Amino acid sequence: MSFNLDNIIRENVKGLRPYSSARDEYVSDGSKMVFLDANENPFENGVNRYPDPQQRSLKMVLAKAKRVEVPNLLLGNGSDEVLDLLFRAFCEPQKDNIITLPPTYGMYKVLAGVNAVENREVVLTDDFEPNIPEIGKRIDAQTKMVFICSPNNPTGNSFKTSGIEELLGNFSGLVVIDEAYIDFSPGDSWASKIDQYPNLVVTQTLSKAYGLAGIRLGICIASSEIISVLNKIKPPYNVNELTQERALKRLSDADTITEEISNILAEKDRLVATLNAVPFVAKVYPSDANFVLAKVDDANNRYQQLLSKGVVVRNRTNQVLCKNTLRFTVGTKIENKKLIDTLQQLDTQSR
Ligand SMILES: *Cc1c(COP(=O)(O)O)cnc(C)c1O
Repeated sequence: MSFNLDNIIRENVKGLRPYSSARDEYVSDGSKMVFLDANENPFENGVNRYPDPQQRSLKMVLAKAKRVEVPNLLLGNGSDEVLDLLFRAFCEPQKDNIITLPPTYGMYKVLAGVNAVENREVVLTDDFEPNIPEIGKRIDAQTKMVFICSPNNPTGNSFKTSGIEELLGNFSGLVVIDEAYIDFSPGDSWASKIDQYPNLVVTQTLSKAYGLAGIRLGICIASSEIISVLNKIKPPYNVNELTQERALKRLSDADTITEEISNILAEKDRLVATLNAVPFVAKVYPSDANFVLAKVDDANNRYQQLLSKGVVVRNRTNQVLCKNTLRFTVGTKIENKKLIDTLQQLDTQSR
């Protein structure tokens, strides 16, 4: 099977042209142009104008940071919007299917449901790796996308590259690699491989390592052909002015981002060491992300106990392969101390 983008674009999308907004043609660059094209209120307050629908300034900075070209980028209202655009561009409702690899990020399944696309689940192997032979068996002519989250949420591990390369080389649909946690990982991003694999789509976000979950900025990195398809269906002003400004400001301070990431990683190591010493913690799984998954004696009970002491963690016990696990996000030193002190208190109480 070989990949041909034309074969996977929905028929209705093929015929679309992107909505052309007033601001698509001219973006204010502070020069003497008079903008009487978009029915805006002319009195300046910082946000009285429509935002740049192509987010040109922000994309220039991000392209450099991610070592790709501007035409390889599409930005969205969080990566959740980027993922939704992928469904709407490539999956025919009631007809096509996708493959997801639980335990994983819950949004793929939600979006499949919203878009009336069948979600075929292929559970990870016991060591939390994609089951490539099984994925191969579940792929059919209507399979448009395989969603791979690496580092994976909630397990925390990055997947081996060999299996993913095999999939990229043989699958005639898109391989979507969700790299929400890549900035915490010692491993390389797949973004450098988009020229090599025409069916590769990488998603990233400013919500985690960049510390901007509140502004909602998701990043899609793929061939310019794939990006052009997504551009046809994206709402023109999907990334608002305040988000674009705030993202630019943050990206201009790369040193702070790097420092925060090192701090979080150092805190993670400390947290893992202390968790390992808590008697009711049976196992702490290796993590390339800013959270750790740990197996405890009774997750429901420990979750409730932590909650009653004011510590909110994520109970993953109902996820496949994750029985009796809790997911701990790495916080500040003070927050992590509160978690550890509380766990140690619970331990003394329970004996
Ligand atoms: C947190 C997270 C995201 C982030 O989504 P945004 O909409 O960009 O905030 C994406 N994928 C995974 C796996 C995540 O854990």
